[in-house]
Order: sequence, then C-alpha cells, then structure tokens
Amino acid sequence: MTRPWRAALGLFLAALLFLFVAPQAARADVSRPVGWSLASATSQVHVGRVTLRYDPRLEDEALAVAREIPRAWSEIEHELAGDLEDTLTIHFVSHSGRIAEGTGMPQWAAGVAHPPTGEIAIAAHAPDGSLTDLDGLLRHEMAHVALYRATGGQPLPRWFHEGVAESFGEEIDLMRSQTLAGAIFGAGVPHLEQLEQNFRATDAITATVSYAAARDFVNFLRWRDEDGSDLRQALAQVKQGKNFEAAFVNGFGRTLAELDTEWRGGLTGRFMWFPIVSGDGLPMALAFPLVFLAAVRRRRHLREGWARLEAEDAALRAPFAA
Ligand SMILES: [Zn+2]
Repeated sequence: MTRPWRAALGLFLAALLFLFVAPQAARADVSRPVGWSLASATSQVHVGRVTLRYDPRLEDEALAVAREIPRAWSEIEHELAGDLEDTLTIHFVSHSGRIAEGTGMPQWAAGVAHPPTGEIAIAAHAPDGSLTDLDGLLRHEMAHVALYRATGGQPLPRWFHEGVAESFGEEIDLMRSQTLAGAIFGAGVPHLEQLEQNFRATDAITATVSYAAARDFVNFLRWRDEDGSDLRQALAQVKQGKNFEAAFVNGFGRTLAELDTEWRGGLTGRFMWFPIVSGDGLPMALAFPLVFLAAVRRRRHLREGWARLEAEDAALRAPFAA
C-alpha cells in the first residue's frame, strides 16, 4: 500500500475506533430519590412481590418486561446471595426525560435504581431517542438493588457496584469487549485503585474503559469457581460487617490484588481474537463490528461459566485464523 493510502486507511480506522469507544447513552446510577412518582406510569401489574407501573401506551413492552422479571431476579438473587427480600417497584416510562422529571435526577438516564427502597425506573427510549435494551436495563438496575440487599447496604467500591450491574445487565457485550480490547492492546487496563478514581473522572473515554474493565473483572469473579459460591461467601461477609478486602480473602482465598493479577494475566489470551487487521495495529473487530455483533448476539444468553466463555472465544477466533 502506498503511503497516502495507508494514512487514509489509518484515519478511517481511527474514526471507527472513536465511534466505538465513544460514550454510550448514560445508564443509570444509584441515586438519592425516595418514593418516586412517575406521572405517566399510571397502569400497574403485579408479578409476585414486584409491582410494575407503566405508561399504558407501552402495554405490550410492559407485559414483555413483566414476563422477564421472575427469571432475571431469581438468577441475580441466586448468584449474589442465594435468597433475598424480593419486593421491588419498577416504573416503566417512554423516555429518559420522564425518569429525570420523576426522580429528580439531574441527568437523563435510560435507567436508574434506588437500592434502599427497591425502586427502579427504566425507559423505552434512551436520552438520544434510540430504543433501549429493556431486558439489559432491567437486569442492570435489579443487580444494583440485589447487591445492596446482599451486602446489607454496606459501602462498596463504585467499580464493584457498577461492575456487578454491568455484568448482569449484559454478560457478553460487544461494545464493552471492543473497549476493553482497545485498552488491552493500547493504553493498558487500569488497576483497581485507578479504576475507582476513573469512575469519578469526567473524561468519557476513561470512564467507558473503566466500566468495561469492571464488568469483565466481575464476570471473572462470578465464574471463577464452579458454583459461584466464593462470591456469595465474600458478599455475605461484607453484610456481616467485614471490610471489603478481608471479605474477599475469606470468600476467594486470595486477596483482591491477587485476583486482579490472575484476571489481568488471562486478558491478552482471551482477547487475541481481536487480531491485527492492518500495519496500523487496530483490532479487526473495530473494522468489522457487525460480524462480531452477530456472533455475540447469538451467544448472549449463554452464561455457564468462564471456561465456556473461553471456549467460545476460541471458537470465534477460528474463522479468522483460517
Ligand atoms: Zn449502574
């Protein structure tokens, strides 16, 4: 390739890279309001101990959300604690703007949770107007509430709270994987202390990388042992008042730093399926995201373990190696 062409290709790929690591629609945070009243959510349905309030214009979507509730909650509850108090109030409205109005959140977000009261609000449309992934949003916000209950509301690092929510929201997420791969083969994956600071960063790319790393590290913790009991044990210890670090040593038999090293050591191998597409060193997934999107969607609901994920990554790698 001649030099100008290489430069043009490089620019094109750099633009793609920017697109894919650019901030995603704001997703929720754990916030202050208590006793929300989302005026447009006037219809109501009960699913066990869960009350789903929804905008009547969203009846079909609301019933689909309602069907998803028991399975999503019981999976999250089982993985984090075994059994938890099940009462939830979920508000489902058309647009993020309605959530901001009803909850007093300064920023528009597609979903928000208030763990102490077990309240969740989710919107069918993101701040930019695009349709949201309702299933993913529901699970993300439920995980915030479940984690709060599993740890008795003890203070937790922000990276852990968001990592758990992201991990349950969408265990295999193309955008996050690309972001993380970009960090692995680029600037490096931030260490845990750095991760915590980065969540408070105003720089969107830094924050996005931190979400991706926190999510992947939590996946690793969830799937490290056969039945996930190490994580449950650690969280139970936190609930009993043990310090976060000590609870992890108790649950996993390793310090967080050791777990971090173990996770980090496996990253390059797991992400080798982002091969180099050009001399400019950009991962192929950035150039052909749709190929990966299709593959990732197909295996979205498979969540039987870390080993399985690795095997699937190896299988995914094969077509590109050929
Ligand atoms: Zn969150």
